[in-house]
Amino acid sequence: MSGREILVAGGGIGGLAVALALAQKGRKVRVLEKAAEFGEIGYGIQMGPNVARMLERLGVLGSLESTSVFPQALIFADALTNAELTRIALGDAFRARFGHRYFVIHRRDLHGGLLAACKQRSEIVLESSRGLKSFTQKGDGVTVVCENGANYEGAALIGADGLWSPTRQAVIGDGAPRQAGHFVYRGVVPTGEIVDKRRIDTMTIWGGPDLHLVQYRLQGGAVMNNVATICSRRFRRGEPNAGAPDELEEVFACTHAGVRDSLRYVSRERNWVLHDRDPATNWTSGNVTLLGDAAHPTLQYLAQGAQMAIEDGVVLAEKVAAAGADYNRAFMAYQRERMNRSARVVLSSRFFGEWFHVDGGARELRNELARGRDPDNPWEADWLYKGIDINGRL
Ligand SMILES: Cc1cc2nc3c(=O)[nH]c(=O)nc-3n(C[C@H](O)[C@H](O)[C@H](O)COP(=O)(O)OP(=O)(O)OC[C@H]3O[C@@H](n4cnc5c(N)ncnc54)[C@H](O)[C@@H]3O)c2cc1C
Repeated sequence: MSGREILVAGGGIGGLAVALALAQKGRKVRVLEKAAEFGEIGYGIQMGPNVARMLERLGVLGSLESTSVFPQALIFADALTNAELTRIALGDAFRARFGHRYFVIHRRDLHGGLLAACKQRSEIVLESSRGLKSFTQKGDGVTVVCENGANYEGAALIGADGLWSPTRQAVIGDGAPRQAGHFVYRGVVPTGEIVDKRRIDTMTIWGGPDLHLVQYRLQGGAVMNNVATICSRRFRRGEPNAGAPDELEEVFACTHAGVRDSLRYVSRERNWVLHDRDPATNWTSGNVTLLGDAAHPTLQYLAQGAQMAIEDGVVLAEKVAAAGADYNRAFMAYQRERMNRSARVVLSSRFFGEWFHVDGGARELRNELARGRDPDNPWEADWLYKGIDINGRL
């Protein structure tokens, strides 16, 4: 079946994933991207076995593997002592339990792999410099007006237009996302520049009071991705310059010298201000729905925002295929299936953020519980990494 076009606002990871999934179901899709070019930022992203399964269904997993890195373990360490507290081993037992490997990849390689696959599908039209400005619904169709005045008619609209989604404002109208007061500094450096190479084959997180640091290698191991996050005390106190580079140094001052030294790998040129939203109860209005960060933006502490967007895309296409031309029915079924899983990610990510960032007695408890875990039996991750059941097939 092809029929009228489905319009997708936003050509990020979520927008491209849903375009590809719909094209696989024979639907015509037009992706309208606001930026002058389709692209992603130059840092890393983590991909669990739950999303590897989705990428395999989309036919892109194989092509992504050549530029991916497969860490040996996910390690959690104490930033005050630099001591490992616990790990999830990512070897054969992990793969047997979850069906796929855990990998990390450069965002441009992931987005580029999805883009290349979209370009190969005759059902998909990709248009850049087409920021959605507004839309109207009439009968069984949707008309989108872009910022440059261009307009498009389609059978349905999917808002995959990110954290500040204008589509969301029309559908839900709940204003700006919640600013967490957390600020992120990133840097990618040649692996040769890394001084302490003891953990370079792993994805390691060091947690400390109001801070954490993440490191993993990318691009066949050639470069190291570094992410330093602080929970700004200035933000909490309502002071100016919250999250500025001098506060990054200030908050990390308490950490072990080896951890503090890693700040040399992150750029002070810019930071990312973290936001999320409380889970919503409805993302759909008529033939319009939301996907990815537009629907359920999350803090990055489970590393699942993009993975949820890709899962969304696969599920949405399944529901569209099952509902024929009844897009409202398809979108209601999609949101029903995605709402609680994405809400669990949003709320669990907040919890993990707290857990990474504690001090004092809470840190003592966290460390004792972490040390007591069985690294080879990560049952806590089953709900997430075992993934979703689509039409009875995992
Ligand atoms: C520090 C950090 C680390 C993270 N690490 C991970 C991780 O390891 N694993 C993971 O899965 N997730 C991670 N995430 C989350 C992940 O980056 C996001 O959840 C994901 O990029 C969301 O994809 P999306 O396509 O929904 O939105 P976006 O990536 O924001 O894409 C939205 C697209 O829409 C376009 N757009 C915006 N407005 C309009 C408009 N009006 N009209 C048309 N187009 C528009 C934008 O230009 C963009 O291309 C991390 C996030 C942060 C901040």
